[in-house]
Amino acid sequence: MRMSRLLAPTLREVPAEAEIASHKLMLRAGFIRKSAAGVYSYLPLGYRVLQKIMAIVREEMDAAGGQEVLLPILQPAELWHETGRWDDYGEEMFKLKDRNDRGFCLGPTHEEITTALIRHEVRSYRQLPLLVYQIQNKYRDEIRPRFGVMRGREFIMKDLYSFDRDDGGLDESYWKMYHAYERIFSRCGLNTRPVEADPGAIGGNMTHEFMALAEAGEAEIVYCSHCDYAANVEKAECMTPGVESTGQLEPLTKVSTPGMRTVEDLEEFFGRPASDMIKTLIYRSGDVVVAALVRGDHAVNPTKLARAIGSLEVELADENTIEEVTGAPRGFAGPVGLKGCRIIADPAVMNIEAGISGGNAVDVHLKGINPKRDFTPDEIVDIRMAKPGDPCLCGKGTLQGARGIEVGQVFKLGTKYSQALGATFADEEGEEHPLIMGCYGIGVSRTMAAVVEQCHDQDGICWPISLAPYHVAIVPVNYRDDEQRAAAERLYHDLCEVGVEVLLDDRDERPGVKFKDADLIGFPVRITIGPRALANGQVEVRWRTSGEEYLIFLNEVVTHVQDRITRSIEDVELACRH
Ligand code: ATP
Ligand code: MG
Repeated sequence: MRMSRLLAPTLREVPAEAEIASHKLMLRAGFIRKSAAGVYSYLPLGYRVLQKIMAIVREEMDAAGGQEVLLPILQPAELWHETGRWDDYGEEMFKLKDRNDRGFCLGPTHEEITTALIRHEVRSYRQLPLLVYQIQNKYRDEIRPRFGVMRGREFIMKDLYSFDRDDGGLDESYWKMYHAYERIFSRCGLNTRPVEADPGAIGGNMTHEFMALAEAGEAEIVYCSHCDYAANVEKAECMTPGVESTGQLEPLTKVSTPGMRTVEDLEEFFGRPASDMIKTLIYRSGDVVVAALVRGDHAVNPTKLARAIGSLEVELADENTIEEVTGAPRGFAGPVGLKGCRIIADPAVMNIEAGISGGNAVDVHLKGINPKRDFTPDEIVDIRMAKPGDPCLCGKGTLQGARGIEVGQVFKLGTKYSQALGATFADEEGEEHPLIMGCYGIGVSRTMAAVVEQCHDQDGICWPISLAPYHVAIVPVNYRDDEQRAAAERLYHDLCEVGVEVLLDDRDERPGVKFKDADLIGFPVRITIGPRALANGQVEVRWRTSGEEYLIFLNEVVTHVQDRITRSIEDVELACRH
């Protein structure tokens, strides 16, 4: 390709709409352009990268036994009514009507469509296991589309669905996908970490998210300094602290605490550490109201709390609800004598000897609360947010914190969808059973942004060789100079001939402009043709990521560059096989 012909509108200025490096660079390098919030076009360079990611994904899915299909984006509402997700999915679903007033949605995901397809086509255990996947646009009306293609409303996903006859089969499919994901992301040059996660609305009982580690990531994860444990904070567990309080068993006493509502206020007033406080927060989920108790130095994990009460989401209750159930305004709730709602206590609370909490009356707190003696929770279950510094369950390490971009997720779904949609198979005896399912997604477009987020410097993108839109850029310092032009054209021809993906910067631009664009776009190799070296029959080779730079004879450069590129692609692939 010739740069003079290429639709690659690079920008010098940082676009005002972009907050994070990958979004800025993908706009500046002319890879993407925005059409509407969360809706993007891919220009030729961007699309080439995307296609390379899709090719890697496809290879690994096929190698793991997946069969590629293409399912409809336009999905009939009836199917979603059958699983109950037409209403459950909420505002994120793009809903529409056809001319006959029939409901449809633009697929945010494809469990319904796939399961409905399979229920008609699979009859017998002989057809199992079955793994079908597609690479296609998904539509989600995200509340906050942002960071360019990182969180789009239209985005590209690879989604695979596995169908097995029993849990053992599902387990096999699950780990097959898990390992395929590890290979996909390392082939893409991404540093990812699989973490345990909460299955949330989709259902099922086991799931891992693949997190590309990056400061710009929206997800918080923790991992152990000693063992392999890693989890999304929404799911993370840690050791329950024992008795650490300075307090000893005391009588329960009412104390007047005018205007004191926060843990900090109480620490100061009572001269006792936050770990002696019993934080009592009132949450609601629909009509259900619960009091969540955690230690004053801990935070409630709303995801765990929601699980504990068997719902999908909880939110902090409003002032009226708090008054109704506790009889006092916000800031004075406590577990002793609390009758108006269910009480869920974190195990760490139960280890407090003499705690302090609200007295369920204005300006009143209680001290000397002994949880085992003074109140009975409806349930004692882990509802706390694990945080960096907490001891890992392994007993040897400490949890460390990091941020991640969720580039993929694997789920064991079980029979939630097959049961709802009546997708069954007959076993050897002719007996019908629901298919056991798993689902496995990769954000293909998000992966591209995540790679840029991890692989860039102040000058631009540093594409891993496996994803670079072109491997080599030839930059003649002055294209109008006859000798340089002839050498550049020759080299371009020769590299094309041996199949190297090469771009020739044949523009009549200053060398600085061409170098800046080459760095910004991020070609792994730049071959500069300048007058001085050329006089000796040499050109300069520069590797973008390492900065390595050297002269080489023109008659050797094709083989040299071709060899090094082939070798580095092979090295990555080889490393992934082990
Ligand atoms: P998130 O929590 O980031 O909203 P999700 O858990 O809802 O994502 P999944 O349903 O697990 O997403 O979808 C599979 C993959 O699709 C995700 O791991 C992610 O890489 C990608 N993905 C999800 N939503 C978006 C989006 N709005 N834009 C781009 N990629 C997305
Ligand atoms: Mg997910």
